[in-house]
Amino acid sequence: MPRLSEVIAALDALWPPERAEAWDAVGTVCGDPDQDVSRVLFAVDPVQEIADEAVKLGADLLVTHHPLYLRGTTTVAASTFKGRVVHTLIKNDVALHVAHTNADTADPGVSDALAGALDLRVVRPLVPDPTDATGCRGLGRVCALDHPLTVREFAARAAERLPATAQGIRVAGDPDALVRTVAVSGGSGDSLFDAVRAAGVDAFLTADLRHHPVSEARARSAHSTADTPLALLDAAHWATEWPWCELAAAQLDEISDRHGWDLRVHVSKTVTDPWTAHAASITTDFPGAPN
Ligand SMILES: [Zn+2]
Repeated sequence: MPRLSEVIAALDALWPPERAEAWDAVGTVCGDPDQDVSRVLFAVDPVQEIADEAVKLGADLLVTHHPLYLRGTTTVAASTFKGRVVHTLIKNDVALHVAHTNADTADPGVSDALAGALDLRVVRPLVPDPTDATGCRGLGRVCALDHPLTVREFAARAAERLPATAQGIRVAGDPDALVRTVAVSGGSGDSLFDAVRAAGVDAFLTADLRHHPVSEARARSAHSTADTPLALLDAAHWATEWPWCELAAAQLDEISDRHGWDLRVHVSKTVTDPWTAHAASITTDFPGAPN
């Protein structure tokens, strides 16, 4: 049975913490380096229901994609919702470790897992890491489809393959346009439009897309003769990052086998997307209503 410090060293080799963005807060949040680890749970969000799930499972280590504390804090009192998470974990000897932007840019990383879930062939990073000589690391992925699909069909595939959320998949663009190449980025991707345009892809699938960046991207695409119109697909943030949990769990499983560790690795299926319901518009008073 490995000690926590050994498991963390293995995780740090997969997602070196020094490759995280300067604003990020990755690494071990709580846990005794000398404690034994026999069960690990992977999840996207370090929220109370995930902490409770880790305790119920008998996990010794919870690995999440999102940080618990991103900014400095002066209290972990159990009267605060994050402090309650810390108390739950420490009282039950569950360590918490975070791999966030260091997992985003890793090879394989968060967007590779997303591409894999959508059956896309990864061609290259959307924004390559300039410090990486291999050219494989970086943010987002430019991908190809083995067979072209219409935007409608590709959206249906995303809706089918990604874990179910209230939001589903929102689409901007001609539903009958053909998709041969796609850029994907797990998590919030609307800062990546310049790279998406430069990649010349037919579609971009990400999360948290906002009105103005989408409106501008569509207008720019429609007025450019060089581009094929860019279709945009917006999934729930949690759903675009959840496939990474399965990838990461498989990576740790393989490491565990190699070391001969007695380690059980689990992936949480608890939906922690904060949106809980969706009402489809039914009014027909507007001629341009979505279809
Ligand atoms: Zn995220």
